[in-house]
Amino acid sequence: MIEVTPGIYRMPLPLPVTNLSHINTYLVRGDDGYLLIDTGWNTKEAFNSLKKQLADGGIDGQEITQIVVTHVHPDHYGMAGELKNLFDATLAFHHLEKDFIETRYVSMDELIQELGQWLHRNGVPPDRLAELKKASLPMLKFVTPTMPDTTLYGGEAITCGDFSFEVMPTPGHTAGHICLYEPKKKILFSGDHILPTITPHVGLHPQSGSNPLGDYLDSLNRLEKLEVELVLPGHEQPFTGFKERVEGIILHHRLRNAEIMGAIGYDSKTAFQLTTEITWLHDVNGVGWHKLGSWDKRMAILETLAHLEAMRAKGELDKFNRDGIRYYRLPQKARRNE
Ligand SMILES: [Zn+2]
Ligand SMILES: [Zn+2]
Repeated sequence: MIEVTPGIYRMPLPLPVTNLSHINTYLVRGDDGYLLIDTGWNTKEAFNSLKKQLADGGIDGQEITQIVVTHVHPDHYGMAGELKNLFDATLAFHHLEKDFIETRYVSMDELIQELGQWLHRNGVPPDRLAELKKASLPMLKFVTPTMPDTTLYGGEAITCGDFSFEVMPTPGHTAGHICLYEPKKKILFSGDHILPTITPHVGLHPQSGSNPLGDYLDSLNRLEKLEVELVLPGHEQPFTGFKERVEGIILHHRLRNAEIMGAIGYDSKTAFQLTTEITWLHDVNGVGWHKLGSWDKRMAILETLAHLEAMRAKGELDKFNRDGIRYYRLPQKARRNE
């Protein structure tokens, strides 16, 4: 447990996956109770680490009265149900995240079918579908599905001692992702929306909204206007230099768009074809596309799709269907000009 700024403690918890070493949970000290932000996966290792860090700080857990989850990915939400019951605390998260609990974590069959059709329409060959559509099933055992006591919509104030955090909806990484902003102290809990060196995953899928990358960049532009001196992210280390980081992420997405455009050229291609061709996806984790695990492959396809649909929304690409498969190409006008 590390006090990152007076009254706020960072408790990194281990994750059972290889590409990220830990998730940051944060504890905010109040007058008559603590606020816990994000919870970690529901694994024994994460739970024991949390208990130990709390004990080292002289806290037995019962003092935690509020839990806020930035979004319902397993690393942020997995242990929320367990902790809520154990500490008798209230749990809050965004209403759009709440809407997905049932389909994502309780009865997933429909979502898996839908995702299979989605991947098929976007060019994934039939022999790869079964593997890719079920790629997230192993994650389910790390989540205790729980509904919130308080459903957030944005603009609410979450108070704890000297702190009053404004709930800022930041759709993109997930549709109902929130950040928490403390204007007096200029502190931002950024969840997975802004990380110091990794660019957060933004993928297009049945629960993402029609243009998640557009939403993501809009959310970034809105946040960029805030005065922020300290960012407390969901992964990696707390950091300063907020505006530079936001600019860096925006530039990064521009470069990826440019690379996708280059890969399309004057051809028509599916999201799957493009995913296997562009170098930034070849280099995920420093290994080639064919060596990626099915989870990473699926994320890469959904991420390419998010870029394609963001460019289509701006009129930079067209999409058409042939035999039930979607292809992207330059708009007719741009092709004629050549
Ligand atoms: Zn996430
Ligand atoms: Zn995360």
